[in-house]
Amino acid sequence: MGPEVAELEQVLAKFCQVNQAITCSSGTDALLLPLMAWGVGPGDAVFLPSFTFPATAEVVALVGATPILCDVLPDSFNLDPWSLEAAIADIGTAGSLIPKVIIAVDLFGLPADYASIRSLADHHGLKVLADAAQSLGASVLGHPVGSLADATATSFFPAKPLGCYGDGGSVFTDDKQLGDAIRSIRSHGKGSSKYEAERIGLNARLDTLQAAVLISKLEVFPQELVFRSKIAHRYRDGLSGLAMLQSVPPNVKSAWAQFTLRTKNRDALATALGSVGIDTAIYYPYPIHRQRAYASARVAPGGCPVADQLSSDVLSLPMHPYLTEVVQDFILEEAGRILQGG
Ligand SMILES: *Cc1c(COP(=O)(O)O)cnc(C)c1O
Repeated sequence: MGPEVAELEQVLAKFCQVNQAITCSSGTDALLLPLMAWGVGPGDAVFLPSFTFPATAEVVALVGATPILCDVLPDSFNLDPWSLEAAIADIGTAGSLIPKVIIAVDLFGLPADYASIRSLADHHGLKVLADAAQSLGASVLGHPVGSLADATATSFFPAKPLGCYGDGGSVFTDDKQLGDAIRSIRSHGKGSSKYEAERIGLNARLDTLQAAVLISKLEVFPQELVFRSKIAHRYRDGLSGLAMLQSVPPNVKSAWAQFTLRTKNRDALATALGSVGIDTAIYYPYPIHRQRAYASARVAPGGCPVADQLSSDVLSLPMHPYLTEVVQDFILEEAGRILQGG
């Protein structure tokens, strides 16, 4: 907790236009800390999309609460408000579980539909936690990610838009009381003095070394977001009509953590691109409800057919701010040829 940690928290809070940024050791801890601070535990239901990285569900299980897996939308790949609404109604009538939190995931850097999620949350008295591990730097109607939910969690894992040189994360909130509780929990539940434990906590601090790296990288981050967006638009133009692409609603800016297309022949495309030296990735080959660890998790009424479909047809192309136009064109040419069946 050297001086760079507090300095980073100040610049991050400003970047996200919130009054509290509380850094921590990973994106997973950034999700776990608000759940612990809110006292979410056994008997509580937490709603989340099934098409996500396992950490989103893991934190719910770690606090002893019950994850309720909802479906996603076929165009945005993000939480489907109708599936969410049905899941909340289903829990409401089932008896023993109490609906507490909605975790919305901003998949591949695209903010979820926070307007719909907020209105459902308000109607049912639930908290909204944003899993913004992939979406730092994105915005909705000019409001930055970090300011769109009761609490927001991001990750500084090297593969995320703003990566450090190891593991790191941050929570964002405007709620001073929540911020204080999270600061206590990240250091073993400490009170006003170091050896006084007010609550059960964790060792979830960010290393000072990583804070120093992030302060420096944050200076070029806005420019990197512009580069990512330019690349995404060139990909979009080059692939239009050849594959289904993640669609960005008007007034929403994605952080373009990943550029992901959908195609029936996903595996053949990945193999063909790999054979000419173009690496691709499948995020994610299994939705959470198909993972062994979550086999007994509850699923929204109607299941998660879109999450199943996406797992079988998504493919992410190379994406980073320094991908040159020559390389982008090579990728587009090869992908275009294969998608056209040529
Ligand atoms: C990366 C990621 C996490 C976890 O972040 P870590 O820093 O690796 O712990 C959580 N949720 C999503 C959606 C992610 O992509």
